[in-house]
Amino acid sequence: MKYEAVIGLEIHVQIKTRTKMFTSAPYAYGAPPNSLTDAVVLGLPGTLPVLNHTAIEKCAKLGLMLGCEIAEVCKWDRKNYFYPDSPKNYQLTQNEQPLCLGGRVEIELPGSARNIEGAHRWVTLNRIHLEEDPGKLTHEAFDTLIDFNRAGVPLAEIVTEPDMHSSTEAVAFLNALRNLIVYAGISDCDMEKGQLRCDANVSLRPVGSDVLGTRTEMKNLNSISHVKAAIEYEIERQTELLEAGETITQETRRWDVESGTSFSLRSKEEAHDYRYFPDPDLMPVQMDRARVAELAAELPERPLDKQRRYQQDFDLPYTLTSVLCVSRELSEFFEAALLTHPAPKAIANYIANDLLRELSAASEHGDSALSVSECPLTPAHIATLVRVVDEGVISKQIGKEVFIEMFQTGEMPDVIVEEKGLKQSNDTSEIEALCREAIANNEKAVSQFKAGNDKALNALKGPVMKATKGKANPAMLDQLLKQLIDAS
Ligand code: ADP
Ligand code: MG
Repeated sequence: MKYEAVIGLEIHVQIKTRTKMFTSAPYAYGAPPNSLTDAVVLGLPGTLPVLNHTAIEKCAKLGLMLGCEIAEVCKWDRKNYFYPDSPKNYQLTQNEQPLCLGGRVEIELPGSARNIEGAHRWVTLNRIHLEEDPGKLTHEAFDTLIDFNRAGVPLAEIVTEPDMHSSTEAVAFLNALRNLIVYAGISDCDMEKGQLRCDANVSLRPVGSDVLGTRTEMKNLNSISHVKAAIEYEIERQTELLEAGETITQETRRWDVESGTSFSLRSKEEAHDYRYFPDPDLMPVQMDRARVAELAAELPERPLDKQRRYQQDFDLPYTLTSVLCVSRELSEFFEAALLTHPAPKAIANYIANDLLRELSAASEHGDSALSVSECPLTPAHIATLVRVVDEGVISKQIGKEVFIEMFQTGEMPDVIVEEKGLKQSNDTSEIEALCREAIANNEKAVSQFKAGNDKALNALKGPVMKATKGKANPAMLDQLLKQLIDAS
């Protein structure tokens, strides 16, 4: 029997706010353990929660970015369980009336080759609800350590429909989702810092069936490559069980990075095990429609929409648009440069090739320059560089050198050109002498060119460019060589 995999993901995203979900205690990654707590976080008797409005607004904004409907009213439930990561013995969450309903995310599957656009499809969401992050447990050989810094951090849980069918789709979804969240400024989605975490639900069913099979839920997937590996492992495990005539047990499993396998943690709990009930200390939240409309108006353009617009408006190829739109920062840098000098293709090329190359080299050397905002270049640097090349002041080749220089010094390109004497040489007499020399030294190339091989001219240009250190105006050089050969 052939099986189809069915995958649904639950993604937890820490919402970037100054303070926690129900108290004014701050949160910052990497602070000394248990330094960011207070009586509310620690669940001391007599404390009461106070709602963080920014967290609600940011979660609503996330929902709008993902095409959800924002509920008229959302409310808070207690999810009761005993575990040391939660001093109150319950987690505040939204079970019955979540803030965001439905939604969908456009994904792009990998193309047939690198740099080739792949197929697009939409993945349907079920809901997004808000909850509080539990504390963090670290298991050591003989101890378990508890850090409550993370406890109470606003967490959005994005739940997809069981709508994906391969690890490839799940990875494409997570990448698209992460881009959308970062674009909207909800979170930086750094998985190493636990800002985005994913649980994967996987089941199999016979191909052609539309009944869902029994699923397992995989926890502890803290990188996209782990999500991919864990899903593939689980599909294989379930296939083997079904083929051996066995049944799948509904259970929660833990992915073990070291061994590249998973093991059963516990049989799957049911919703009623948690004895959900409305929190008596928090009022339902009435969502102000005018405010929701304002939030919708503040949304940035979605990355894939932006990519299509660049393709259409600027006639840029996919290889460039896909790079420019990877980050909102980079695409805004590109658009700002266009305002100074409207040459989209040349500017896009400098950003996608030279700028990204220098940024990654700088980060490898351990410098702090990793992102566009941290490097000394402004959009005006690149726009001006393209302009001086377009105006024929320097050649394209020299432009590449100027780029490196301005990346290192922050100096404007026209200043560098002036200071280093890089102006393209339009001095005909000097270049003409060099051309004559090149022609005299390479009879073979001359006769090949005369016989109709245009490329043979390059062999003559080389020495002239070398002698002028690349400063000869290429168009002029071309013309001069042809004239001299014709006349010879
Ligand atoms: P729970 O109550 O355990 O959280 P939900 O119904 O909320 O269960 O679903 C959690 C996730 O599991 C969702 O992403 C959903 O798409 C996915 N899911 C549910 N049933 C299946 C299934 N049979 N196969 C794969 N994924 C599933
Ligand atoms: Mg769930």
